[in-house]
Amino acid sequence: MEFAEFAALADEIEAEDADLEVIGLVAALFETAGEDLGTVTRVVQGRVFPAHDATKLDVGPSLCHEALAKAAGPNVSAADVEERLASVGEIGAVAESLELGGQRGLAAFGDGDEATLTVAELDGQLREIAAAEGDGSTDTKLDVLFGLFNRADPLEARFLARLVLGEMRVGVGEGTVRDAIAEAFDVPVETVARAIQVTNDCGLVAETARETGEAGLAELGLEVGRPVKAMLAQTGTAVDAIEEWESAAVETKFDGARVQVHYDGGETRLFSRNLEDVTDPLPEVVEFVERELSVPAILDGEVVAVDEGGDPLPFQEVLRRFRRKHGIETAREDVAVELHAFDCLHADGEDLLDAPLLERHERLADLLDTGISELAVTDDPDDVAEIEETALSAGHEGVMLKNPESAYTPGSRGKNWLKRKPDVETLDLVVTGAEWGEGRRANLFGTFELSARTPDGYATIGNVATGITDERLAELHELLGPHVRSESGTEVDVEPAVVFEVGYEEIQRSPTYSSGYALRFPRFVGVRADRDPANADTLERIERLAGD
Ligand code: AMP
Repeated sequence: MEFAEFAALADEIEAEDADLEVIGLVAALFETAGEDLGTVTRVVQGRVFPAHDATKLDVGPSLCHEALAKAAGPNVSAADVEERLASVGEIGAVAESLELGGQRGLAAFGDGDEATLTVAELDGQLREIAAAEGDGSTDTKLDVLFGLFNRADPLEARFLARLVLGEMRVGVGEGTVRDAIAEAFDVPVETVARAIQVTNDCGLVAETARETGEAGLAELGLEVGRPVKAMLAQTGTAVDAIEEWESAAVETKFDGARVQVHYDGGETRLFSRNLEDVTDPLPEVVEFVERELSVPAILDGEVVAVDEGGDPLPFQEVLRRFRRKHGIETAREDVAVELHAFDCLHADGEDLLDAPLLERHERLADLLDTGISELAVTDDPDDVAEIEETALSAGHEGVMLKNPESAYTPGSRGKNWLKRKPDVETLDLVVTGAEWGEGRRANLFGTFELSARTPDGYATIGNVATGITDERLAELHELLGPHVRSESGTEVDVEPAVVFEVGYEEIQRSPTYSSGYALRFPRFVGVRADRDPANADTLERIERLAGD
């Protein structure tokens, strides 16, 4: 396909507003792309490389402006290009408005300047630009880009300038490409969507759809070494998660950086959340993977920086390691990192994306002896709070709640993974009662009745039993002991003396407590030693927070 033909169609697509029409035009482009189908699928989205390949052209605006100026002849400087850009606002329009090609005699690349540029040739030259490294690479990039601009007609120049700067602006994203592949090659859109998820390569999917149709697409799977997009999380509450799924899988939310591990049985590659290759900066993770794994696998996890005592450090420390290109051994001595694997996408030749989370986690446990996140399944929000308290006191970020039955859906920010919403604010509430604990906590108070201040006393609003470690419970028991007024059965009446800081997810109206309100998911945060009951939060504040 000639690039001019592509540019003409891209121009039509850009001018079209209606989604369905755009899909039709992109489908027509795919049908005429011939052997350039893979490239065209990418270029129309403004990409040179497939989504799984984080290679960059590394062409910045100034290089592009210089190449344009050079192709526009001796009377145009990069400063002129920038001036036009400031008034026009968009590099494509600037490139289109310049009279390029005046430098025929000087064209450094491409034999026969008169020959039209093909999509394949463009692709090859852009890859040459991306591959230029080290001393002189800027000159190489400039020369190749100049050669391309020098041969471009105005419309080609518009899309070329935008493509190299990563701002294609024709309004075609992965969703449009998916629908257009389905339309062009008459295959179900869900099959195309699925194929894109597992391959992360629209070009390959388009070619497969054309060559072998639905059956061929269905055969596409994960490939070790080719990263897929990470599954993402939304925020949500523990109560909602349990109501929605009946039970929730709870695990620590680590404060680090996402890493996808690809081990092919011999070699390891690590990819960041942006799918960049971060193998070199994380040698200890590579060593860990190669020590632990004996079969090919794709794992998902979080890499966390740790101090000498093994306690987690803030995530910025990991990012610093990610960016490190030189002196990795020294960096490694300064800040160690470790992997917490939490998912298994592929094990020993088997794709596991559709297997339920719990099964994937079991496979993970089969593969690794250490470095696995602990997953607890519960239908009790109190357990969630307790796990969260343990995670927080170990220096982690909080907890993730996951649907135990859910599949792994690359790239989607669905409702199957939830980051537990942090408490919006906390309340200072008075302890007005307690209840003896059970089991190993039978000799301590296990639950505490909380009250808000009213003009003439206190009104109950809930009980807190969660978020309290055994050690802390013992301290609280001692603190409250002197204030016990009476006991009846397991119930203890406590005079208002101690104030707890309490987190919660929501305040709801409720007939259960004398205040008329209840806290959803109350969590013990700490004792407000600096506050006495006279300064505790009032019922009036609770009413306001509840929106009443
Ligand atoms: P956020 O970046 O706040 O949207 O939270 C989602 C991120 O938390 C994920 O992309 C992971 O990098 C990170 N994370 C930490 N621990 C876990 C875990 N156990 N499961 C899933 N994601 C986790």
